[in-house]
Amino acid sequence: EGVTWGLLSRPYHVLVLLNPQSGTGQALQLFRSLVQPMLVEADVAFTLCVTERPNHARELVRAADLSRWDAVAVLAGDGLLYEVVNGLMERQDWQAAIKKPLCTLPGGSGNALAASINHYAGNTRASKEELLTNCTYFLCKGLHAPMDLVSLSTASGKRLYSFLSFGWGFISDVDIASEKYRQLGNARFTVGTIQQLAGLKVYKGRLSYLPVETSSSVSSAPGSPSEQNSHHVPCSNGHPLHILPQPAPGVPRPPHEGSWPEDSLLVPFDQPVPKHWTVVPEEEFISIFAIYQSHLGADFTMAPTAKLHDGSMHLFFLKAGVSRLGLLKLFLAMEKGTHLDLNCPHLHYVPVRAFRLEPFASTGLMTVDGEPLACEPVQGQVHDQLCRIISG
Ligand code: ADP
Ligand code: MG
Repeated sequence: EGVTWGLLSRPYHVLVLLNPQSGTGQALQLFRSLVQPMLVEADVAFTLCVTERPNHARELVRAADLSRWDAVAVLAGDGLLYEVVNGLMERQDWQAAIKKPLCTLPGGSGNALAASINHYAGNTRASKEELLTNCTYFLCKGLHAPMDLVSLSTASGKRLYSFLSFGWGFISDVDIASEKYRQLGNARFTVGTIQQLAGLKVYKGRLSYLPVETSSSVSSAPGSPSEQNSHHVPCSNGHPLHILPQPAPGVPRPPHEGSWPEDSLLVPFDQPVPKHWTVVPEEEFISIFAIYQSHLGADFTMAPTAKLHDGSMHLFFLKAGVSRLGLLKLFLAMEKGTHLDLNCPHLHYVPVRAFRLEPFASTGLMTVDGEPLACEPVQGQVHDQLCRIISG
């Protein structure tokens, strides 16, 4: 299968969405001092848009005239890119919109995709300004590659698109509980982990999955991009944006499930998973975590063999019974990605195409790309090469 690399044709114009609250609150300063000079030097034009609140970026990309930009960059953490991916998928013309090259410029406390792309490019481990410099350099080069997305559906009818991870239990709890240590940047996860170890919880539920090995190929249903008129509305910081007419805030978007990529591997929740799936016999877990890229953070190589588009979710589950010391060892080994070498009998790893998780109680929160999701039955599958991302 040929890799369809793309190259932004010069001169190109990038929409930069920036979360001023992300990470240690330095994103705007980092843009001015580090990113902007590089873009100017490389003759890359940009429109900067500073977000004012959660979901601002999501609403912007849901409604904007995307033809104005050759790429959409996010200077923030993974959370803002998650908004952008979902905003694009909520458009009537999602099929064309999701092909707009995206770019992650790490400015948050969780920059897993940036760390992964830095790793795929063959660069040595980097964080903070060094990682941001590397990623801005990728944007100046303009090379983009396909990236897999995962569709997630919940029993209550939510549908989400995820580029990084789905989790429940220990790792998700660390992510959420450590939000208050955002000022520490990436170190928030180390502090959060040690803290969570003290109050280790058991999560009960049924986990099922379709291993990559036993799966057949997936096809996507065709959709029809729609042409719409646009008009101008001002962006938060005064830059005019072309915005398509949209419903009032809070009004659910019109359903267009018929044209969404088909979840050909999944069956409705009221039916048991297909026979060729694996159902995990144990039902008590410390953590369940599916990651689709190599890094969970600058210092966490969770799935060392993962690639941008390997058609896999790298599913890890840690069964109850592991000691605190065992868990600490796993966590420390994850920095270099050697946690599987420890042969911990409680830790399981399998690359999968699809999974279903049915919690027995609404314990804790789940996370999607690091963002919280109320605990309920959820299932998901990989959609090969659904979006494009600027990479090295
Ligand atoms: P971090 O890596 O530090 O968590 P993210 O970019 O992931 O940074 O953003 C964290 C959260 O902040 C996301 O849920 C996002 O929706 C939200 N957010 C985006 N813009 C703003 C804003 N202007 N003020 C407050 N929160 C915002
Ligand atoms: Mg985040």
